[in-house]
Amino acid sequence: MSKHPDVAVIGGGIIGLSTAYFLAKAGFTVDVLDRSDLGREASWAGAGIIPPGNPDLAGSPADLLRAIGSARFPVFSAELRELTGVNNGYRACGGIEYLHPCDEYVIPVWQAEGIVFERLTPDELSSLEPGLGAVRGQPYFLPTCAQVRNPWHLRALIAACQRAGVQLHPHQPVRQFECENGRVSGVHVGEGSLVRAGTYLLTAGAWSGPLLEQLGHAPVVQPVRGQIVLLNSGAPRLSRILMLGKEYLVPRGDGRVLVGSTEEPEAGFVKVNTEEAVTKLRRLAAHLVPTLADARVETCWAGLRPGSPDGLPYLGNVPGWENVFVAAGHFRAGVQLSIGTAQVITELFQGRATTVPLDPFRLDRIPSTPTKPAFRS
Ligand SMILES: Cc1cc2nc3c(=O)[nH]c(=O)nc-3n(C[C@H](O)[C@H](O)[C@H](O)COP(=O)(O)OP(=O)(O)OC[C@H]3O[C@@H](n4cnc5c(N)ncnc54)[C@H](O)[C@@H]3O)c2cc1C
Repeated sequence: MSKHPDVAVIGGGIIGLSTAYFLAKAGFTVDVLDRSDLGREASWAGAGIIPPGNPDLAGSPADLLRAIGSARFPVFSAELRELTGVNNGYRACGGIEYLHPCDEYVIPVWQAEGIVFERLTPDELSSLEPGLGAVRGQPYFLPTCAQVRNPWHLRALIAACQRAGVQLHPHQPVRQFECENGRVSGVHVGEGSLVRAGTYLLTAGAWSGPLLEQLGHAPVVQPVRGQIVLLNSGAPRLSRILMLGKEYLVPRGDGRVLVGSTEEPEAGFVKVNTEEAVTKLRRLAAHLVPTLADARVETCWAGLRPGSPDGLPYLGNVPGWENVFVAAGHFRAGVQLSIGTAQVITELFQGRATTVPLDPFRLDRIPSTPTKPAFRS
């Protein structure tokens, strides 16, 4: 361990690693502690969709946080590639979103935020994507919708952290905070060693709840399982991301198609695939792209999203503890939100005004009922 780093980041998923990298670039000394291998949980399991967003016209702090990711992912990906030689697979492959009448409230939002979109006629749809089945709902084309390959992005982040001087400590589970007069003075790690830092940042994803409880807060972050199936049909069947409510197909550059996802809060911390969900996802793929009906299931996996009651992350100070901060609860959009999160936490630690107002993300907020499907929030 480093001697008393400025910041100990607890949890090395996309949120912890991105923030550690930004902090190190800003001159902080940073240690990242993970209970397991770095970047192998929700961040590894995600589909990697980066929906479009426009920071200049974002209508709310949540929209701005999300839009920062949409706008900066291309530049950040290039920065990581230049620094580490690792390509994270970012590409603006475009997306097609099917909207039902009850989803059409997003159209004025897209218009207000200057998102490029196009209502597709059946002919336009079939010339864009010839293999599609008859799907209910009005298709819209989102040319700037993008994707990233999560495992590659995490590899790039780990390498970037190393280059920036971040000390990475996999297999160091944080078990207990040591507290003194409203401050955390250390964390008990693994088999009993004590790690001390000036400031502690809790980025333990779905596992943040029990750590928050130790600090006297409700375990507001809860796991929400999502399952994914990877299909291989031997030939490319799809070029763009298809989105239908909370379900989607993501075509990989190599012809494979990722099909997601379920939303299962009732599964708790049980991270397994179920036959029922795999069957449902295969049916979804065959419905959207009939030629995928006989595609082989190459593999499937599950991940635990860090859920929050209103679908928004918790960002900022942990009330009652002057040197403890949280960045957790990014639910269905943590990949997209990772850059904005890293930016605002770094600004906060520098004592600067944050680009995104953090009040809506306070740990002690009273959650409002989500007005948008979580995928878009
Ligand atoms: C199936 C699925 C599909 C998704 N698709 C998308 C998508 O298309 N686009 C998008 O933007 N988002 C998507 N997401 C959401 C996104 O993946 C998550 O919001 C994001 O990964 C959360 O990142 P995290 O770093 O907070 O959590 P995690 O990646 O889970 O990282 C938390 C880390 O904390 C560590 N940890 C836990 N407890 C401790 C402890 N006590 N001590 C030390 N370390 C600890 C864990 O080992 C883990 O490495 C998807 C998620 C899933 C599951």
